[in-house]
Amino acid sequence: MFSDYHTHTLYSNHGKGHPREMAAFAVEKGLLALGFSEHFPLPQEIVEPSQGSANMHWDQIDQYTKEVREAQEEFEGKIKILLGYEVDYLPAVDGQMRANLAKYPADYWVGSIHIVDRFRSDHESWLVDFSPEVFEEGMAEFGGPRAVYTRYYELIREFAQKYDHRIVGHLDMIKKFNLNKRYFDTDSEDYLSQVEATLDVLKATGKIVEINTAGAFKYIGEIYPSDKILQMILHRRLPVCLSSDAHQPDHVAREFSSTWQRLVKMGFEEVTGL
Ligand SMILES: [Zn+2]
Ligand SMILES: [Zn+2]
Repeated sequence: MFSDYHTHTLYSNHGKGHPREMAAFAVEKGLLALGFSEHFPLPQEIVEPSQGSANMHWDQIDQYTKEVREAQEEFEGKIKILLGYEVDYLPAVDGQMRANLAKYPADYWVGSIHIVDRFRSDHESWLVDFSPEVFEEGMAEFGGPRAVYTRYYELIREFAQKYDHRIVGHLDMIKKFNLNKRYFDTDSEDYLSQVEATLDVLKATGKIVEINTAGAFKYIGEIYPSDKILQMILHRRLPVCLSSDAHQPDHVAREFSSTWQRLVKMGFEEVTGL
């Protein structure tokens, strides 16, 4: 029996489905628990990416929490429903972010890096998962791929040390557009040393690393994190959970059975629940 703690609804502004529709599908799939992790709104002080962000707008958050709490009541006894957020780490507006989070208590958070500082001469937040073109543009400005992945993993470490999110989202998402290792070698000692340092921090801070099946349906066509990183996780005995990152009801728990079978073959024995 699985649980899925990383899902989005129509409130992500590119997803479909109300919380109760997602919950109904999760019950049909026989899940133990379903967590909603809508993108927490960005602080107003931040320079929004011009591509538009996936984050909820401030005028949507009350309706989102209301609908999740309603689904919690409606499906009580059938499935455990949790209210969560997928939270970004933005060092430049850290104080504001913390103040905002304190105003919206949740059952848990998923901590994910989507924004790596700024680009376009410091004028805009750089969404590293938006498109290959935006990724290339930012990378050129940032000083190349090595500087980018180094900063990306550094942000994950800082985030883990400073915030108490339970789950770390799509750990190696920085590879999203790195098809056929076109920008950087994810098997190189340098790249893996960044991953290693990050896993050590995640272990020390008691985080759960999600194994996110959505990557398999994205540009890179491979789950997050990669098999190589999964082996490192296994070696360190870091707690893991399965996540779909669904953006519509019928994607909840997508590919969980087949992924879990594969993970068991690798040596994984259990998933950690909330
Ligand atoms: Zn995400
Ligand atoms: Zn997500």
